[in-house]
Amino acid sequence: MVEVRLRGKPASPGVGVAPSILIVHRLPGEAVVEDPLKAFREAVAEEGKWIGGVVERLWAEGREDEALILEAQLLILDDPNFTGLVEKLIGEGLSLADAVKKTVNEVAELFGKTAYMKARRSDLMDLANRIIARVHGATVPDLKNISRMVVVVADELYPSETAEMRKELVAGIATERGGVTAHAAIIARNYGIPAVVGVESLLEHVKGGELVVVDGVDGTIIVNPKPETVEKALSKGRRIRELYEKFSKVEAYAADGIRVHVEANIGSPDELELAVFFKSDGVGLLRTEFLFIGRDSPPSEEEQYSIYRELASRISPKPLIIRLLDVGGDKPLPYVKFRREENPFLGLRGIRLLFKERSLLETQVRAVLRAAVHGNIWIMAPMISTISEIVEFRKVVEEEASRLESRGIPVGRPRIGVMVEVPSIALQADAAAEHVDFFSIGTNDLTQYTLAADRVNADVAHIYDHAHPSVLRLVKMVVDAAEAKNRIVGVCGEAGSDPDVAPILLGLGVRRLSVAPNQIPFVRYFVSRMKMSEASSIANKALSAVSPVEVRNYGRRIIGENAVFESNGLIF
Ligand code: PEP
Ligand code: MG
Repeated sequence: MVEVRLRGKPASPGVGVAPSILIVHRLPGEAVVEDPLKAFREAVAEEGKWIGGVVERLWAEGREDEALILEAQLLILDDPNFTGLVEKLIGEGLSLADAVKKTVNEVAELFGKTAYMKARRSDLMDLANRIIARVHGATVPDLKNISRMVVVVADELYPSETAEMRKELVAGIATERGGVTAHAAIIARNYGIPAVVGVESLLEHVKGGELVVVDGVDGTIIVNPKPETVEKALSKGRRIRELYEKFSKVEAYAADGIRVHVEANIGSPDELELAVFFKSDGVGLLRTEFLFIGRDSPPSEEEQYSIYRELASRISPKPLIIRLLDVGGDKPLPYVKFRREENPFLGLRGIRLLFKERSLLETQVRAVLRAAVHGNIWIMAPMISTISEIVEFRKVVEEEASRLESRGIPVGRPRIGVMVEVPSIALQADAAAEHVDFFSIGTNDLTQYTLAADRVNADVAHIYDHAHPSVLRLVKMVVDAAEAKNRIVGVCGEAGSDPDVAPILLGLGVRRLSVAPNQIPFVRYFVSRMKMSEASSIANKALSAVSPVEVRNYGRRIIGENAVFESNGLIF
């Protein structure tokens, strides 16, 4: 048997290994039902009774989250709009199954397209499947009677299934569909079950019964693992469990009591769930590209407003830092005219493109300003390279605010900041600090522009390293300038979760790190291992290092030689 590795989205941290149990939902076929109207009414009554019983038990067991989900299904069953539409469609000659499916699709349309609402859609499908299955006498996959440890592998898992599942026997969950906000993912996190969702072609590789590893930290599924893979996974699982028990929900403090804010970088609403789960100190970077890519026209002010508002209220009162659209010639959009550029990374990218495409900029700024009424939103411009760009950016924010106010539309007053990704702005950080409330240092781009080494070109990967002393010196200039003017400064590039480098950034005075959500507990862990007073003197020495290797050695000295490092960047 060959070991197969598949990738998905990490949805609940931890590592589990067990034989798989397969749950596949195939709606029963179109068997003829004699009196579909009567059959439908009976199925609704039976289903109502069944849900009522499960809900009662869930409340009695204190499983409030799950009880609420199923109660929502009860409300739908009781809603005459729902039953009425199914009955009307049956009356028009549709089969019972088609009538139920069509109704569910129509109701789901009303829910809209946000990730959260897509997850609610899956609740409706759950209900529809069960009603149809009842009428056709089909059995719904059963997770109530499992009697040994299993990894649940499914096309999608519905709330009624996770509610019945014997969670103490579930070592992991892997699903082909569903996002991080799907109920299966929420329940998995609540119960500490490792989970990976959105695994393409999962069901092609898992047939049920074979051993499966679910690595909910880096989002990997391993089918038919070799014995040494199993051993590795089990020991990673044990160490992760220990680490998560300690660092999943606590604020980060260094050993000498200095507080460090650990925030999340997110690139879709889905990822916010993990940030909330880990009680992150906020969203230090919302990459808004997900709203603009893969469509024929730009998102409207209204669409953006409702998404920013939803995200801000989920994380409130902690900050949500919204970065304006950061695209360029390397990632073209069909609705923006791009001239072919010889060097897209040095061309019309980030704020430069937005100044040229004024209406994209103004629309996004208005959406952010309006959403800022409902949460702690900050606004940030990408790819700033001159002071005049900062002045211009502030002007746009102020003009759009007055424009909205003059129309009687309420606006918030977000803090205004810039990404420091281009060396010129780090070198002029003192002047820049006059015009901003905060700096967010993007070490990913700062490294590529400082070392003139393309971040995605494998041929220069040996030069591209955010541990380079030149990058650290620029970080130091920004931190000093921010301190002198009492401005906020954070790091949102990958260096913030690199255990060799982040301790040095902290030693240089950075107190905010924004990292990928599943790195949050690890960052808290290494922060807890360091003393800031020590870190500061070591970091100052690292500034005079000549190579990244030397810098990394200093970083390791700060958190101690005993920390064990693994190649994927996680430490134990
Ligand atoms: C960065 O450049 O460090 C950064 C965080 O932005 P992105 O990775 O989205 O370019
Ligand atoms: Mg960047």
